[in-house]
Amino acid sequence: MPRVLEPNVTVSRGAHASRDARCLRHSDLVSISSVSPYRKVCPYCEKGALMVQRNNSTGRLLRGDRCVWCGQPVRYIDDSINGEKFEGE
Ligand SMILES: [Zn+2]
Repeated sequence: MPRVLEPNVTVSRGAHASRDARCLRHSDLVSISSVSPYRKVCPYCEKGALMVQRNNSTGRLLRGDRCVWCGQPVRYIDDSINGEKFEGE
């Protein structure tokens, strides 16, 4: 169920930026809005968003992503997102 982001955890900006990447399923995350199937709530701060990254040249999906607020690096282990395969797969 999509929900509006409400800061409910006190995590400062960039607090998780130096952590190791965590593997997770994009499909398990909470959607931020019904507008984009890609944007999800960051489970590590519940304040920022995981937007999904693309190769600037090819436009293809990348497995690596990072929360725009806390900086937590993640790696998606799904086969695809919204029916779209990852670059090189
Ligand atoms: Zn975060």
